[in-house]
Amino acid sequence: MATHDIKLPSGQRPQFPDRCVGCERPQPGHLAKIAVTGSRSTLGWTTDAALLAATGETVQGTNTRVKLAVPCCPGCARALERRHFWKTVMLYASGILGAAACIAVILWASAHGFSSGMGAFFGIVVLLTLLALPVVYELKHPPAFTVTPLEGHVTYEFVSALCAEEFVRANDPAAVPAPATAATV
Ligand SMILES: [Zn+2]
Repeated sequence: MATHDIKLPSGQRPQFPDRCVGCERPQPGHLAKIAVTGSRSTLGWTTDAALLAATGETVQGTNTRVKLAVPCCPGCARALERRHFWKTVMLYASGILGAAACIAVILWASAHGFSSGMGAFFGIVVLLTLLALPVVYELKHPPAFTVTPLEGHVTYEFVSALCAEEFVRANDPAAVPAPATAATV
């Protein structure tokens, strides 16, 4: 399922239309509170996951956390908040499992006579596969609304085309909506 994505600079405070991001009902009179972890750099998440596995502590070295309250009716808000809770759990679980599996594969390869280079290669493939699982799942089943914080900007992702359109108007008329929206005639 495609989402309608709008990119704003990290420093810009987003203005949300008064409409439920889940069911598009106007004036929902309620907010959904969500928090999303992202990386400041492409390898940021991998680095943090590896550090987390090595030290057992949450490292916020290269990660960034965005907290938002978005207009959402109470029913949709419960589903959206639950979805973001599990999104965070899966992100950390895939990082910890990926790092543990990576070490296990390297040890296994070394015990079975593979060169250390081959062992590291197998380990990294396993690590990247596990890190990719939550990302692939989200691409196939996107939440009604989420954000992706990256270096310098934040991408706001809506399943609802109407909410995305109103969000663009409320924030920056020059902002470019998702190609999915633009390509639809
Ligand atoms: Zn709703």
